[in-house]
Amino acid sequence: MTLTAHDTVVLYPSGETRNQATVLHVEPLADGRAAVLLDRTSCHPVDATWPDQGPDHATIVGSNGAAAEVRDCLVAATDGTVLELEPQVRPGEPGWAFVVAHVVDADAEMSDGDDVEVVVDATYRRALSIGHTACHLASLALNAALSARWTKRPRLDGLGNADFDKEAIETSRILEFGAIDRFRLNKSLRRKGFVIDGLAEELELVQNATNAFLQEWIATGTPVHIHHEGDGLTDRRYWVATLNGETVRIPCGGTHAASLADLGDTRVELTLDTADATPILQMTTRSTV
Ligand SMILES: [Zn+2]
Repeated sequence: MTLTAHDTVVLYPSGETRNQATVLHVEPLADGRAAVLLDRTSCHPVDATWPDQGPDHATIVGSNGAAAEVRDCLVAATDGTVLELEPQVRPGEPGWAFVVAHVVDADAEMSDGDDVEVVVDATYRRALSIGHTACHLASLALNAALSARWTKRPRLDGLGNADFDKEAIETSRILEFGAIDRFRLNKSLRRKGFVIDGLAEELELVQNATNAFLQEWIATGTPVHIHHEGDGLTDRRYWVATLNGETVRIPCGGTHAASLADLGDTRVELTLDTADATPILQMTTRSTV
């Protein structure tokens, strides 16, 4: 039995929320549910290696009209014989394809070769897409607001500011109309030249500066698009927007708003706390649209 030798074709990067597909394989899971592999899908899966954006809400509708709810949707890998729902291999590993696993209940009627339709909850998707675009924009705004705190030149972001986000990010969670990003303010960040002293006292100023950049950029209503080098699940994709006359490209596998105008009133709140004795800067981003 051969599951598939090809990455799933993914349609969500271009904003699609429904598509026709063919069932390639139905894998029974230990918990009684099943993982359905399709040739193509518009359902965004969560990627365990960087689980910032969670799975879409969706159903798979069979040609007889029976709808199976997608209970979970994740990035999996197969060598043609086994399906790894928590892949130990990396994309590009010879002999392995990366596939979108749609987890459905045990009683879902689906078999290899079935023609089906994937229907994604477009309202929930839109909320996540706005949250994800707001998250990228807020990270660029935070980089700009913190740029004076660097004594060395680390990697720069697409706007030429020290890339605090890249150097310090610990976790990023995309929410409906928002995001929560947590940044480690540890010794390694200090060694790279970031000045932590006095940040607590200046936090409100940094927050206000971040929000001012956000307001300025959102007011331009610049379009956002996803540049992709192919349609396969592991083909590289980038979030692209023009800000301050510069074209900014951020590697990203998620879904996004089509324009910064969709972000409405987007603001961040910055707070400091600690986790395992390491100071953490948390940025909570919210869009009111
Ligand atoms: Zn992203």
